[in-house]
Amino acid sequence: MTDIMKTFGSKVFNDAVMKERLSEETYWELRKTIKNGYSLNSSIAREVAEAMKNWAIENGATHFTHWFHPLSGATAEKHESFVSTAGGGSITLSFSPSNLVRGEADASSFPSGGLRDTFEARGYTAWDPTSYAFIKDGILCIPTIFCSYSGEALDHKTPLLRSMEALNEQAMRILHLFGNEDVDHVKATAGAEQEYFLVDKRYFDQREDLQLTGRTLLGAMPPKGQEMDDHYYGSIKTSVSDFMKDLNEELWKLGIQAKTEHNEVAPSQHELANIFQTVNVSADQNNLTMEVMKKVARKHGLECLLHEKPFDGVNGSGKHNNWSLKTDTGMNLLEPGDTPAENAQFLLFLTAIIKAVDEYQDLLRIAISSAANDHRLGASEAPPAIVSIYLGDELTAILESIENDTVYSNKEKEPLKIGVHTIPSFPKDNTDRNRTSPFAFTGNKFEFRMPGSSASIATPNTVLNTVVAEELQGFADVLEKADDLNSAIHDLIKETLKEHKRIIFNGNGYDASWLEEARERGLSNYPSTPDAMRHYLDYKNIEVYRHQGVLNEIELRSRYEIYLEKYYKTVNIEAKTLLDMMRKDILPAVSNYRKHLLGILLREKELGADVEKTYEYGTLSKLTVLSSEAYELTEKLADLLGKDKPSAGLELAYFYKDEILPLLDSIREKSDAMELLTERIFWPVPTYKELLFGVD
Ligand code: ADP
Ligand code: MG
Repeated sequence: MTDIMKTFGSKVFNDAVMKERLSEETYWELRKTIKNGYSLNSSIAREVAEAMKNWAIENGATHFTHWFHPLSGATAEKHESFVSTAGGGSITLSFSPSNLVRGEADASSFPSGGLRDTFEARGYTAWDPTSYAFIKDGILCIPTIFCSYSGEALDHKTPLLRSMEALNEQAMRILHLFGNEDVDHVKATAGAEQEYFLVDKRYFDQREDLQLTGRTLLGAMPPKGQEMDDHYYGSIKTSVSDFMKDLNEELWKLGIQAKTEHNEVAPSQHELANIFQTVNVSADQNNLTMEVMKKVARKHGLECLLHEKPFDGVNGSGKHNNWSLKTDTGMNLLEPGDTPAENAQFLLFLTAIIKAVDEYQDLLRIAISSAANDHRLGASEAPPAIVSIYLGDELTAILESIENDTVYSNKEKEPLKIGVHTIPSFPKDNTDRNRTSPFAFTGNKFEFRMPGSSASIATPNTVLNTVVAEELQGFADVLEKADDLNSAIHDLIKETLKEHKRIIFNGNGYDASWLEEARERGLSNYPSTPDAMRHYLDYKNIEVYRHQGVLNEIELRSRYEIYLEKYYKTVNIEAKTLLDMMRKDILPAVSNYRKHLLGILLREKELGADVEKTYEYGTLSKLTVLSSEAYELTEKLADLLGKDKPSAGLELAYFYKDEILPLLDSIREKSDAMELLTERIFWPVPTYKELLFGVD
């Protein structure tokens, strides 16, 4: 047995462990719970809790925690030891079924967007048994949802689980129409491709901006950036490959199937992809992956940057979210089939997705919006802020022939009739043929490329599941009443495509002309988070969340507040950090260098030299002008931060977007110009060259 076979999943209370440690009856009951996505049945909780505790203790755990994803973004945990008193000064190790099933959490310190004013401050956490418990740093972690006592979701996971239920219900109706009697349920699957940067920890420790905001707020581009494309898929440096090896091992122990790793386009940028799982498990695994990445990097003297745009002038980091639908019988519903019936089913699901993405472009855009991702959307490598679908030429041609009743190719003799003809085969692997599309069909799944590298994939997948469920419901309502199913499907697909084909775009999304064309097509374009958030509470959006039972209006309103608050707080921290760096590091450093130059000039002048043509004189003059300008802008920033600001969420977000962000850019411009003129030993913080090329 190879090592990986021994260690894989060794820290997970997975199926094999359950089978070994539970009575047969309990094991099968738990299996059923997991398979159907129910919550844990109290009749088996005692035995499961006892088995879990014994397994955890044998594997070195001393504490347990419910592990959840509050809306603040990071994962949350509150450790409790297994120790309880047994009288007479002795202890016993205990873990009750209620410890496993339900935990109390004081919700008042987590963002609730006003929910805590309306409801009780207490919240509770409850095990999501479909996601296995695991041991991390000697702590048994139990993946849970997080709700207020009155049941409102306070996390990213609850709506995700609700959306999975909604999708299952509607997808099953469609599958029944096609006679798939053996299918029990449908689950969405997701696989995340995680991008990140690695920098030398010693340099990171000297950059206040990276430490406090995750991104560099200043830093001039070195003579070389990413223009040679020599980093992409390049050979991996020793310290990085040591890190990757260690990371893989840690992830494998946690049962995470880390699969591919390679260098990305920007210097010091890398990517890791885990094998896809059911969406909720995949979301948990991606969150855990990010946590482990940071920890392992530090062990290697590195810092892992997960921010969407840590460096200006080189690519940012995204998290491609591959999404598909899978039945418990193993069928991928986005895989074109070989028979007319399979094809009809595939085309129907595809059409529902096209309609969903078109009607809810704004929700998809909102799901991936953040102050950090705003810097990335539309920049070098990233998709533009406009949502569109890439299908590839072949599939688009097939859909066109259905829509227009025309023959698809020279080989076919008559127009394609759904349910009668087999769709002509087309190359299934379209992967990366169009890297500019935000939502690309890649043969048997969609790749949503807009999500940012640091965000949880729970939210974009919640939206996908919800809006696709909504369209499938509409389709099922029509088709269940049809006398002639095949022609009803044909008509439905045809009509839907006519109405929603504007969302399909196979061209270059980075082309300036696309902006114009998208506008003519009536597609929405929300370049910033505040622009996108304005539409969060549009009537149709409230309706679809409500109708699918994913988030009610109260929950949505609370999220609206939280997301806006997160936006302006992020920019506010950036502003204060830059102010601090300018006043304490940059301006004093430039002042010192000017003093140094002036000293030389005065001495030379005493000696009677003509100083006006000297390097010292020229540089001093330029730096004097630049530092005055930088100082003026810095003081302006301080004034703006100190003055009365709008109080309402959206207005305040716009204040930070329109007033503060541009000022940060202007200050940076001056600082970067000064950096290029200042002798290296005078410059107080590590440079882009050190950060981007400093790992060996
Ligand atoms: P790429 O060329 O984009 O790297 P891969 O085939 O390597 O394509 O897949 C990238 C990601 O997509 C991986 O995380 C993979 O597990 C995931 N993936 C593959 N098939 C599916 C599917 N049916 N549903 C969801 N994710 C999938
Ligand atoms: Mg990809």
